[in-house]
Amino acid sequence: MPNPIGLYIHIPFCISKCPYCDFYSLTDINPDILNSYTHTVVESIEQWHKKLEGVTADTLYLGGGTPSLLGGERISRIIRAAGCFIIENAEITMEANPADGLDDVFAAFSAVGGNRISIGMQTANDNQLEFLGRRHRHQDVVKAVEAAKSAGINNISLDVMLGLKGQTVSSVTSTLCEAHNLGATHISAYMLKVEEGTPFYKNQDELCLPDDDTVAELYLSACQTLESFGFEQYEMSNFALPGFQSRHNLKYWNADPYLGIGPAAHSFIDGRRFYYTRDQDGFIKGSPPVDEQSSDTYPNAGETEYLMLRLRLNRGIKYKEFEERFGHAVPKGVTVRAASLPNKLAVVDSDGIHLTPDGFLVSNTLITRILNG
Ligand code: SF4
Repeated sequence: MPNPIGLYIHIPFCISKCPYCDFYSLTDINPDILNSYTHTVVESIEQWHKKLEGVTADTLYLGGGTPSLLGGERISRIIRAAGCFIIENAEITMEANPADGLDDVFAAFSAVGGNRISIGMQTANDNQLEFLGRRHRHQDVVKAVEAAKSAGINNISLDVMLGLKGQTVSSVTSTLCEAHNLGATHISAYMLKVEEGTPFYKNQDELCLPDDDTVAELYLSACQTLESFGFEQYEMSNFALPGFQSRHNLKYWNADPYLGIGPAAHSFIDGRRFYYTRDQDGFIKGSPPVDEQSSDTYPNAGETEYLMLRLRLNRGIKYKEFEERFGHAVPKGVTVRAASLPNKLAVVDSDGIHLTPDGFLVSNTLITRILNG
């Protein structure tokens, strides 16, 4: 197994549930629950460290939910415990909700080696934030970024959302200008997806969301605006200034190994994909993770997953890297089918295959076509 790996810790707590959100998080929280959860995470890290003898990690990502809700002391305990895996110069990221006072938690995070913050900005437009049911307003994002910088953390990723009610090219551009002016080094621009089981799903007819053509226009204009600010698109929804790509998230798209701890956290270790179920009590009581069922139809599941994931990246599939990893060339059918697609959607050259921003808009269809014909 390639070493070092990425380490992910899921913190499944939020003050309130945003009506579009499908992530596993609970709102029934109190100090006792936060303490016992922290204790279980610390124990799990130690157990996994014993089990994966000799394995190290060069990225640690605290995601959620709202990791910053744990407060500085609990965050420090988790990061110190993860020290058994973490090597020098690791990228250590924490997600934070700008609605909360973050000065103390950022200071504590930085003191134990935290060096990257990911803030759920979503949009700089307060009406759109209200529509999303977010607890914060744009001024809170400004304060959160200031708090990160005061704590000495300058690697700041901001999440923005596309496809909101009333959103226009000009309002997306304003949001991206704000994010750029705030000093973001990394921007994730996700399209709003109405997920089954959420309040948005129940009320979708009343949401007045923009149609697919408008969302496509918003996405392509966001790609151009970010490029004009010096951000390089490196994945269908992710943009970074040079040197600031998310090393942790790249492990997912490169199909490199990672260990996820906490309910709903997924892992890919020694070619095995497994996850903890969405059950906080079960996690605290010690329920082990379960294996993922692969839905691959292609003859070699590992290869298919790799090809699918790599097609999310701008650099796409590189023939040489595929051959080094799997010991044989990319199957001819894959290259032939990709070459049959319009150049506006997919590019096949002497190095490999990659999708274009227009191609990313219909990536599911294209990837299925390239892999399965
Ligand atoms: S704060 Fe984030 S994780 Fe929590 S409910 Fe809202 S979107 Fe979901």
